[in-house]
Order: sequence, then C-alpha cells, then structure tokens
Amino acid sequence: MLSDQSNKNEGYCKLCNSNTTLQHSHIYPKFIMNWLKETGDGFLRSADDVNRRRQDGFKSYMLCANCEDRFGKLETYVAKSIFHPVVNDSVTEFKYDERLFKFVISVFWRTLHHGLLQEEKQFSTYPYLLEAEKQWKNYLLDNGTLERFNKLHLLIGVDVMRNTSNLEKEITDRAVKYMARNIDSGVIDDGNTYHVAFLKIPRFLFIIPVSNIDEKQFTDTEIFISGGSYRVNDGFINDPNIGYTLLDRINQLENALGSMSQAQKQKIEERTLKKWGDVKNKDLGQILEYLRDKSKNK
Ligand SMILES: [Zn+2]
Repeated sequence: MLSDQSNKNEGYCKLCNSNTTLQHSHIYPKFIMNWLKETGDGFLRSADDVNRRRQDGFKSYMLCANCEDRFGKLETYVAKSIFHPVVNDSVTEFKYDERLFKFVISVFWRTLHHGLLQEEKQFSTYPYLLEAEKQWKNYLLDNGTLERFNKLHLLIGVDVMRNTSNLEKEITDRAVKYMARNIDSGVIDDGNTYHVAFLKIPRFLFIIPVSNIDEKQFTDTEIFISGGSYRVNDGFINDPNIGYTLLDRINQLENALGSMSQAQKQKIEERTLKKWGDVKNKDLGQILEYLRDKSKNK
C-alpha cells in the first residue's frame, strides 16, 4: 500500500528539523561499505548479527536531502583525500582541513541517533552525550563554532595495540582484524567523570574526548579543527581506559563469532577457500597472510 510507504519516508530531519521527505541514509558512509566489499569477500558482517550477512551496512530514515548532501560533500573529501590514499596506497602523511573533523562528528552524530543515545540512557555518559549532540548539531549546520567537544585524536594502523602494563590482557589476532577492517562506535567511561567517544573505520580509530581526558597520554594524534598535517606512524595513545575497553569489545566480537552457527561457519570457510584466488591479493587476503606470518614467527 502506497500510504504506508510514504508515511515511513515523511518526517522531521534530525539535523535541520524540517518536515519533509527523508532520505534512507547510511549510518556509516557508503564509500567505507563499498571499500569493505571490494577488498573482502564481498559481504559485510556486523558483530551483533553474525549469522546474517549485510550487503549494505546500516541505514536509517534520518536526514532531508539538503542535509544528506551536506554530509555527502564531507564524505567525498575524506574518501578521496584521506581514506583511499591511506588504505589503498599506504601514504604515511597527509594534509587535511576542517572537513576531516566535521566528517568524524557527522558520522558519530549519526550513530548517536541510530541507537547509541538510547543505549546510553541509563549510564553516566548520557548527559554529556546529550549536550554534545546539541552542540555538534549546530556545528554541522554551520551555526557558529564549537565551544566544547571540539577535540579529536586519531590513531591509524593495523597492528597497533601493545600491552605495556603487567595486567593479563591477551591481544589476539582479532585485534589486528578489528583495526584493519571493522567499523564500530561507542563511548568509553570510568564510571565517574571520564568519558570519551570513539569511531572506528578500517585502519582509523578516532577518539573524541568528551569529559576529563588526560591529553598528556596522547602523543602526535591530534586532529585540529583548523586543519593540519598528520603523520601516520607517529601517533601513540597511552590511555589504559581506551586500551582495555577496546580489547573487551574485541573479545566480545570474538565470542559473538564463536557463537555463529556451524552451518554459517562452514559456508564462510568454503567461500573463502573457493574465493582465495580473488581474495589473496585484496586487503582481506593481505591481512590474513600477515596474521599467518605473525603466528609462524611466534
Ligand atoms: Zn535536514
């Protein structure tokens, strides 16, 4: 029935609040989904739904055509000037302008509206996220500058996690795969006044300080709103809250994959073997070979 369908698309744009036809927007930008498909086995899987392959990432009716276009321009810039040069050509240094910061905020802001705000409702980070959402919304609409929530850090790489403490925390192969090819977002807190948000896309881990961060633990990782230059191999984050939370998430992901049905596991194995000729020269094949060599050298 036509009326059902049109109702679903009509509503208030979450960014500019106009009442109009809403676009079926990607939460994580399409260029990232495309890259994952092109450089992998052609399918996307998410951690919370491992038994069902997703061909098209997460989508939601959220934005009007104008706002979709506003975000699309940021995505075009980041895809062409930063993401593809890093993931495809392994550039070790790049220049960036304000669009990188804005892009990161635009994606994280979308994940806030795609369930993250709801999930955080009962936790200590919620009031901070609400305030940040308001300020980021104005900023994304080009209404003034950000007085708070205006910091950003970035770590780029594949095998970047190290345990420098004496606590038993195993860093598994999954950590490498996570940095290399996962998309993810969330918040990290210490149950008190420390809160950070993070956004993970293949190779890139963005850390968005929200409250009470000790920025002395971040070396050469800052992304400035005004723009600058970033050197891929210089960055270092020595913040145990971030390290432990990400390792816990990676272990959860490993467990979720462990709970995948036998039939599904077999299907994936068969497909990878059958497609190995296609996959081995792609990013997925290179990451799997890297892990194989690493385990040989142990
Ligand atoms: Zn709008």
